[in-house]
Amino acid sequence: MNPVIAAAVMGGLGLVFGSFIAAASVRLPRDEDIVMARSRCRGCDQPLRPWELVPLVSWLALRGRCARCDTRISRRYPLIELAAAGIGVWAGLWAIGEEASLFMALATAVLGWQLLLIAIVDGENFWLPDILTLPL
Ligand SMILES: [Zn+2]
Repeated sequence: MNPVIAAAVMGGLGLVFGSFIAAASVRLPRDEDIVMARSRCRGCDQPLRPWELVPLVSWLALRGRCARCDTRISRRYPLIELAAAGIGVWAGLWAIGEEASLFMALATAVLGWQLLLIAIVDGENFWLPDILTLPL
């Protein structure tokens, strides 16, 4: 596979998983559902519309503020999305460089994304939840 395509695909996946990681890192310590709960503005509690959930692009388009109530949206969200994209790009490039399979690239990225989520939750809350550590 072309390394540029592998890096782009894995980086795109990283943005999507980064969005999930950012939300999960907030919801886990609050004992909120991390999979099924709709994303909401922490200021006005309104559910986010689909165009407000596009990783990185929505934050940039909204200039880091809620479209309804103008509450500031933390920079942690785009930064986490970028970090996860970086992990995805690195895993994609590594897999091509080592002539490993795309499956290995994905497995490596998933491990990296899980470690990113664990690091964020631990760094912000001094907590290593079993739901994250036991699967490792
Ligand atoms: Zn709002």
